[in-house]
Amino acid sequence: MSKVLVIGAGGVGAVAAWKCAQAKDAFSEVMLASRNEEKCKKIAAKTPRPIRTAQVDADNVPQLVELIRSFGPDVVLNLALPYQDLHVMDACLETGVHYIDAANYEPPDVAHFEYSWQWAYQDRFREKGIMALLGCGFDPGVTNVYTAWAMKKHFDTIETLDIIDANAAENGQAFATNFNPEINIREVTAKGKYYKDGEFIETEPMEFSKTFDFPDGIGPKKMYLLWHEELESLAKFLQPKGLKEARFWMTFSDNYLKHLEVLQNVGMTRIDPVLYNGTEIIPLQFLKALLPDPASLGPLTKGKTCIGCLIKGKKDGKDRRYYIYNICRHEDCYRELGSQAVSYTTGVPAMIGAMLVGNGTWSGKGVFNMEQFDPEPFMKLLPEYGLPWTEEFLD
Ligand code: NDP
Repeated sequence: MSKVLVIGAGGVGAVAAWKCAQAKDAFSEVMLASRNEEKCKKIAAKTPRPIRTAQVDADNVPQLVELIRSFGPDVVLNLALPYQDLHVMDACLETGVHYIDAANYEPPDVAHFEYSWQWAYQDRFREKGIMALLGCGFDPGVTNVYTAWAMKKHFDTIETLDIIDANAAENGQAFATNFNPEINIREVTAKGKYYKDGEFIETEPMEFSKTFDFPDGIGPKKMYLLWHEELESLAKFLQPKGLKEARFWMTFSDNYLKHLEVLQNVGMTRIDPVLYNGTEIIPLQFLKALLPDPASLGPLTKGKTCIGCLIKGKKDGKDRRYYIYNICRHEDCYRELGSQAVSYTTGVPAMIGAMLVGNGTWSGKGVFNMEQFDPEPFMKLLPEYGLPWTEEFLD
């Protein structure tokens, strides 16, 4: 049994806190803390058993340290925004508590994300005798575990990896994002990048697209090549195992892309300050304030997400093509806990990570990515907590 402190009362934090509360045998106590404690209280009013709440500014390390010391968690699950990662890691170092997040650090003033900032904590976490588990959502997160599972169970070498993410759903909104709009728009308007033959190759945003025939009745959908953080750690992990190419693809509707293009053209996605009536505003942050809160999309979203890994490689000298994926229905997530599937598919793995770190099944000293641990216990827990997976051998 362990005590977990969840930070961030957004769409993902709400699911993770709910699932931690549900897992009575794993967590003796759960606390949800965020900038706005009212949001935590609203979430806590619906959890399957009472959880504690608190107010915290996760950019304020002394405040975090005080909260961690007063509650005494074994694990801190950081589900605020990527901007807070280093501050929460600093607080975990000072208090000697394990750290987990679902997205890698991003400086607020540059739309650029990579692991270097967090990997730089390696020696300090090791010396302190604690662990940081990075990217414990779905993608990154489950996609890393799927890849480690494929490597362990089905391949001797993996030559190509395509991570494929579809949200085949409607929410009736002209334009809405399924997770934090600021982070989402920064991600999709950034240059693309993929791994090929030992190096990362940059592309223009949305330069490459192709159509993939998704399973479970979703059918063919156009998807676009994006840079996604798990490619960085997975390329490192798979390079000695024969990796030649690794790419990440995501589907977008024509309607989403049309709105995004207009917003970009008029400067609404800019992240540099603009003077407006004597006050500096960041256009993208202002746009976020206008767009629907992802946590409010639960009752509106109908359809499915399908996220998985398409892998080519060799087993016993023979070529093999393999596809592993999860299907998650938005309506089912809403019925279960009032959430939409993107928050659900991120919050559930975050809780499972906290469970495995909390009970010592995944243990170590230092900073780790998901694929560095044995995938079996994680794969076993996924369907138990609502994320079943399917694997198919394609030839
Ligand atoms: P939301 O915007 O819905 O929630 C983020 C929450 O963080 C907000 O409720 C906000 O709290 C809180 N927060 C922001 N700044 C601070 C701060 N300084 N101190 C304390 N709390 C703060 O985002 P999501 O729930 O959609 O996403 C959460 C995280 O999960 C993000 O990092 C996102 O990138 C990641 N993610 C990862 C995915 C994956 O598959 N790996 C997929 C989807 C998301 P308040 O409301 O109290 O101000």
